[in-house]
Amino acid sequence: MKNQATAVFYDGNSSTPQQIVVSLDLYNESICFESSDGQTHKWPIKNITFDKRTTGLHLDHGTDLIQHIKIEDNHFINTIQLFRKEKGHIGWYQKLIDLGITLHLIIAIGILAIIGLCYVYVIPWVGEKSVALIPEEYDNQLGSSAWLENDYFVTIDSSKTKALNTFAQQLDLKNTKKLKFTVVKSNEINAFAMPDGNIVVFTGIIDKMKDYDELVGLLGHEASHVNNRHSMKMLCRSLSGYLFVSLILGDANGVMAIIGENVNSFQSLSFSREFEHQADSDGYKILEANKVNPKGMSNLFQRLQKNNSIAIPEFLSSHPVTENRIEYIDKLIQSKKYVFENKPELKRLFLELKK
Ligand SMILES: [Zn+2]
Repeated sequence: MKNQATAVFYDGNSSTPQQIVVSLDLYNESICFESSDGQTHKWPIKNITFDKRTTGLHLDHGTDLIQHIKIEDNHFINTIQLFRKEKGHIGWYQKLIDLGITLHLIIAIGILAIIGLCYVYVIPWVGEKSVALIPEEYDNQLGSSAWLENDYFVTIDSSKTKALNTFAQQLDLKNTKKLKFTVVKSNEINAFAMPDGNIVVFTGIIDKMKDYDELVGLLGHEASHVNNRHSMKMLCRSLSGYLFVSLILGDANGVMAIIGENVNSFQSLSFSREFEHQADSDGYKILEANKVNPKGMSNLFQRLQKNNSIAIPEFLSSHPVTENRIEYIDKLIQSKKYVFENKPELKRLFLELKK
């Protein structure tokens, strides 16, 4: 172990290098030396910024007047580094600097990381929360315009639509706005909810169902998406980057225009796991409120999941059915037991829909 060596000192006032003998005071944990003017210097190690470069170990000290020492003696450098490591003077940023990464680069990486995190987490979160600022009236306009532009309009099954609306009228769907139901002729196993309360159910998904309780489970789930404004929240989330810029520019019309231009993506939006969970849990409450067998929801999910191996139905892409969701519903059935009744009228309407 070598406790001292020759080094070069810059006093911060002049650019003249001074040859000095620098030593490590193990007891006081400081770097000591005498400058050419005869003054003794004692730099506590915790106050020194160390920078390991190919040219040697560089030490900076001072706040207003920054003084500098350059040490080239490798044995002495190792002694200092070892000592710092033992005493825990090397923080994470100092370790990076010791690796030869400059402070500027660390700051740049830090800023990039913050921007990245903002883009991935903070802005979408703000976008989702900003839904509260958008009047619910706006959801109604959006849903209708998207609905009118939709190609599925031409394949509506009007008698089944009527039956489904009568079916839904028998239920308490805990809705705050009027819900409208439409049955579309299509083999797609799909159902989706528009922000204005239009709930579209494809004949393909009805065909897969075995009993009316499954349909109540589906309607309860979809109604919960509407009740919680999930479509609008997801849209704001996915467009949050643009929305954020518009908000910064104070361009409220721009915000509305951006949402308006993207209405067609409502149907293809995939709900977050959190929203699916909320719709399942609220959907379960709807089954309970209507005294309908809760097994219906679990049966529906299992059927949809089984179907997943054949093709990937739309319902699964926009409402991914996972093992977790089925497990969650089964747990609810076990823990929140209630008495359910037979509903002959629902059964009758369901059979009409199955025709
Ligand atoms: Zn869903």
